[in-house]
Amino acid sequence: MGCKARCVFCDQRVFSRPAMPEDIPALVENFLARCSSPSSRRRVLAFYGGTFTGIEADLLRRYLDVTRDLVEKGVVHAAKASTRPDMVDEEKLGLLVDSGFEELEIGCQSLDDPVLEASGRGHTVKDVVEACRLVRGFGLRLGIQLMPGLPSEDLASFVTTVKRSAALKPHAARIYPTVVMAGTRLEGLYRTGAYTPLTLGQAVRMTLYAVAVLERQGCTILRMGLPDPGAQNVVAGPYHPSLGFLVRSEAYRVMAGLALSRHGGGARLVVNPRSLCELLGPGRANARELTFAYGCDDTLPVGTLRVEAGTDRACIQLQDILEYIL
Ligand code: SF4
Repeated sequence: MGCKARCVFCDQRVFSRPAMPEDIPALVENFLARCSSPSSRRRVLAFYGGTFTGIEADLLRRYLDVTRDLVEKGVVHAAKASTRPDMVDEEKLGLLVDSGFEELEIGCQSLDDPVLEASGRGHTVKDVVEACRLVRGFGLRLGIQLMPGLPSEDLASFVTTVKRSAALKPHAARIYPTVVMAGTRLEGLYRTGAYTPLTLGQAVRMTLYAVAVLERQGCTILRMGLPDPGAQNVVAGPYHPSLGFLVRSEAYRVMAGLALSRHGGGARLVVNPRSLCELLGPGRANARELTFAYGCDDTLPVGTLRVEAGTDRACIQLQDILEYIL
């Protein structure tokens, strides 16, 4: 909804029929009725799965009126939406702010013009940079979405995209490695051999690199990998239902390898109990590959690895492995 073109990778058929503005109060009420203690939580109304600020003016105004009403009545605290970079301007951002929005997610996907062009995005890197500048300028939280593995992207292009993304200083990010969905133009490119999707391993490492660079800037990673698109819709590519777990496990694999190479194979590796599954890896793959002694300490921050070798103690974090990821 609201899209001016169809991107090569997008299967808009999988989007559910959008809720009309007049349906929203009942939808919110029903949702909150199923939540445990909703009054103790921050409640944010989210408009995702399309180009919110590209919706035709009268219809957009009806959505905004409903949102403002729900915020003023205290039913929700605020709202957020996702949109395309070339559908953001000062007038629309002013309307969002006046209607109780606190966050806007920009579908950047890539910050490399040849990749944007090959993906049929219909906007440029300049549009992305300007949209993000405006969003921050209006005091909204900035979210970004990136898609590793788009057509025409190589590793150098992806590294450029990540570095340019970090320079936008987003508050939050979602990273969706590109998957070939049925019925898309990308499926046609894939079937003729003109497009080769990432392997799952490539997608994991590229996502990890983006996570490491963005988290260093203080950006919160909200999601890694597509929500379940339905097996029948996936033609090819690195879809995995637990991509985030694979990415965090890969981080621990690299951290553990670095720890053992620095401190010797007899070193003991210690993590927060909540990180133990990630240290051991999927199906204990990290533990099998690297064979290490391990333990837990709940005073350690999640994501940190402490290496103990004799009386030596040292901590390794995601930022310490940045140069070893790709
Ligand atoms: S702008 Fe977003 S929703 Fe619209 S066609 Fe492209 S990917 Fe799909």
